[in-house]
Amino acid sequence: MHGVTIEYRDDGLERAEYNTHTEGANFSGYPPGKSETLRLTDRVRTNLWRVERHQRGKRKRNSQVKKQRTRITCSLFFLTNLSKVVILLAANYDLLILGGGPAGLAAGIYGARAKLKTAIIEKGRPGGQAATTGELVNYPGFGPGTTGPELTQAMADHAQAFGVEFIRDTVTGVKLDENIKVISGKKDDYHAKAVIIALGAEPRLLNVPGEGKLRGKGVSYCATCDADLFEELDVAVVGSGDAAVEEAEYLTRFADSVTMIVIHDEGHVDANQVSAERAFKSDKIKWIWNSTVKTINGDEIVESITVKNIKTGEESDLTVNGVFIYIGTVPKTDLVKDILELNPQGYIITDDQMRTNVEGVYAAGDVRDKYLRQVVTAVADGSIAAVAAQKYIQERELWEKEVINSPKPVVVVYYNPTDMQGTEKTGMVDQFLQNNPGKFNLVKVDATRNELVKTRYQISEESLPLIQLFVDGKVTATINEISEESLKELLK
Ligand SMILES: Cc1cc2nc3c(=O)[nH]c(=O)nc-3n(C[C@H](O)[C@H](O)[C@H](O)COP(=O)(O)OP(=O)(O)OC[C@H]3O[C@@H](n4cnc5c(N)ncnc54)[C@H](O)[C@@H]3O)c2cc1C
Repeated sequence: MHGVTIEYRDDGLERAEYNTHTEGANFSGYPPGKSETLRLTDRVRTNLWRVERHQRGKRKRNSQVKKQRTRITCSLFFLTNLSKVVILLAANYDLLILGGGPAGLAAGIYGARAKLKTAIIEKGRPGGQAATTGELVNYPGFGPGTTGPELTQAMADHAQAFGVEFIRDTVTGVKLDENIKVISGKKDDYHAKAVIIALGAEPRLLNVPGEGKLRGKGVSYCATCDADLFEELDVAVVGSGDAAVEEAEYLTRFADSVTMIVIHDEGHVDANQVSAERAFKSDKIKWIWNSTVKTINGDEIVESITVKNIKTGEESDLTVNGVFIYIGTVPKTDLVKDILELNPQGYIITDDQMRTNVEGVYAAGDVRDKYLRQVVTAVADGSIAAVAAQKYIQERELWEKEVINSPKPVVVVYYNPTDMQGTEKTGMVDQFLQNNPGKFNLVKVDATRNELVKTRYQISEESLPLIQLFVDGKVTATINEISEESLKELLK
């Protein structure tokens, strides 16, 4: 026999036979080269069913269960990927970080340091936008001379040294609503207990004729990447923010002239004062005020731009070999736009723990709604998100073990440890259950610290102490006023 044979019975999957002679088989815990019949536990059964359903693209379980005693031989693919069967038994990662820019790298460092099995999925080289800037002088502790690529490479090395796994893949889809999050990439699917979205942002397009056609043929969004292609040539920079002004100065090392196209009145730029002053002093930088680019012209490569004065309406052609566009960024939130709460500009809304509106899903860095988008804030977000994710995983696993999957009904007492009267009441519950042994388990939760229960069951500090009775993982009763009588009523 080659492959796995799964036998269906009235009650669903019952047993699987497998043969580990098949090359590449990896059924963890079983010796290679052996055939045997496995008694499947409920969890394995469910997961085998999920895998098979996934492979066959079938959504309806009922039709499968009806196929009594149908023997299905799964493909060799199934066996060679049998480690994936274990798949859904457990996530293959504790923490998955989408995006390897500064936010993702910092999250990786904190996640791995907290002993989470952590991976970063990055489609290119780690470093993100910060790796596209030649000068990065405002990261605390790293002054003039620091480059974006150097700083972010150091972050990536740091993460790797702490045991973060780097996966080179492009994320194409996410499924975030279940306990185990599923991230689809071009190469594979990945499963994790918690996810941090750090996909950053991408350059905003000018959306003018010629931009798309001549992208990579003189139109660029990254001076650090492309500046040397314009040695002794003339270029234009569109924009006047930090990135535009700093990158213009970087371009002067290569180009003969750099013309800034600025929408504001003469002398007004959006960049910080230090960068602006340096740029104003540069002999190589020229300025065209109150203007935008109307078209980018050229057949095969950029030959000129048509500049329009927004006050006079006057248009003029400027001969240039390249155009660098720095008019801001747009968040990379397409993948999550129907799942996560976004602000009107498309940035992910989080709280101060970087939590999104979906449990176990965090966002960090430029992708989220915030005041300042810089490396220093991206790494701060990433570290907060990883710490919050670690706490969430720990709390959820404990909660599931002690409450959700408890074979007995569970009395959960939520309390505030700084409230003496409240803690006395938890003692009363303890005593009460000792006098009525056997029927219930008792779990006490400091609801001022446990973020999971606070959010999931909407427990406010004002409502403490509070009791909830859980039967089969679900709340069946709540007591706000704890007394002998209310306990008797609850547990009768
Ligand atoms: C030209 C320029 C100059 C700058 N200069 C400075 C400066 O001097 N100082 C400063 O503090 N900040 C500067 N910034 C801003 C800074 O770079 C960003 O704030 C910072 O990089 C944000 O980090 P992030 O990790 O949130 O996102 P990003 O840096 O955008 O990283 C996101 C990562 O996600 C990856 N990714 C995106 N989509 C996918 C996908 N589908 N699958 C897999 N991976 C994906 C990307 O490849 C990228 O590596 C500059 C930015 C630019 C563009």
